[in-house]
Amino acid sequence: MSKIDLSVMGISDKLIYMAEDIENSLKERFYKIDKQEEINELRVLKAMQDNKLSEGHFASTTGYGYNDIGRDVLEDIYKNLFNTEAALVRQQITCGTHALNLALSANLRPGDELLSPVGKPYDTMDEIIGIRESKGSLKEYGISYRQVDLLENGDFDYDGIKAAINEKTKLATIQRSRGYSTRPTLSVEEIGKLISFIKSIKPDVICMVDNCYGELVDELEPSDVGADMTVGSLIKNLGGGLAPIGGYIVGKKECIEQCAYRLTSPGLGKEVGATLGVTHTLLQGLFNAPSVVASALKGAIFAAKLYEDLGYEVFPKADLARHDIIQAVNMKTADGLIAFCEGIQAAAPVDSYVVPEPWAMPGYDSDVIMAAGTFISGASIELSADGPLKEPYTVFFQGGLNYGHAKYGILKSAQYVIDAVL
Ligand SMILES: *Cc1c(COP(=O)(O)O)cnc(C)c1O
Repeated sequence: MSKIDLSVMGISDKLIYMAEDIENSLKERFYKIDKQEEINELRVLKAMQDNKLSEGHFASTTGYGYNDIGRDVLEDIYKNLFNTEAALVRQQITCGTHALNLALSANLRPGDELLSPVGKPYDTMDEIIGIRESKGSLKEYGISYRQVDLLENGDFDYDGIKAAINEKTKLATIQRSRGYSTRPTLSVEEIGKLISFIKSIKPDVICMVDNCYGELVDELEPSDVGADMTVGSLIKNLGGGLAPIGGYIVGKKECIEQCAYRLTSPGLGKEVGATLGVTHTLLQGLFNAPSVVASALKGAIFAAKLYEDLGYEVFPKADLARHDIIQAVNMKTADGLIAFCEGIQAAAPVDSYVVPEPWAMPGYDSDVIMAAGTFISGASIELSADGPLKEPYTVFFQGGLNYGHAKYGILKSAQYVIDAVL
């Protein structure tokens, strides 16, 4: 029987040696991530135990889904985990964008103003807000928008934010992760400072944090530092790779009630929403999430170091602290970007034989290439990469359900890049 190793799997000796050196240099960082994972696992476990999670909660409901005790306990577990008054965790929330739209449209009224104090938000928010004309946008409902960009050095523009807050300002949307930009990701501590500042100027501004990709990375969550709503997707960090769909909003009771009435209907709120047998998977995914996030973090740091050593510019740099699981690499050329994505795809458990090609994705102004050989379609907690085919040809890379696969995928990408352009 032949032995399987990295060289059998198509990685050159040069890269295998580089990987060994890198892993040796990262021992201490990986140890810290392991310790963080352990604490986060205890947080999740305690939330499950405190809510007396039991097998009966896994039962499925259909139709209206009245009195679904599994759904209630799932939301109570999220409530405990985030230290909030209330939680809405539903498979009827179809993705992160939907969760964000829900949180905004449920809590804003005509005449109100929305503020982004951290620059332009994630691409899909453009159409929610109406930055790009869109049917059903907040703008159509008479909700105005103001944006204060970060300063050149990445700091908050406190003077600009103070000047932007006015009697109409009702809600501030704060994006934790870099998204598809190369601005730094915000730490929970920085988010806390920003929220305190906003509330010192106008205490009743609802502060909402787009928590996508940030969950379980820091010791605290935005809800621990004053966020009124914390919002994210279940096919990212908290689904642990198992959740097949879903989104969550946790926070102040008043805000979450508004979200529930908007998601279903005034009068019905949280009382309806059949779980169709998915509760068990959402809970098991949450139970796995600390370990999955830790693997993805290790993969991101490993990738940063490897690509730095290969002479590429990376964001964040390998030795910087992490506040989300995303790693960006400037691939310099279209060929480099394409090779990176081909390598990630070739390392996938699903569709590894498929070659990804750039295409004109709706909502983007240039062709985009994506690699995602995932079990859950489009799940970016699984090893995946994508980037727009335009200068400086930045690839955004994230995920990995386990470290072994993340490491292999990154090495495979590097092998493709070396073969194609180096
Ligand atoms: C992924 C993401 C979203 C949107 O989530 P989808 O599930 O893709 O709709 C919003 N904001 C940020 C920062 C994200 O990373």
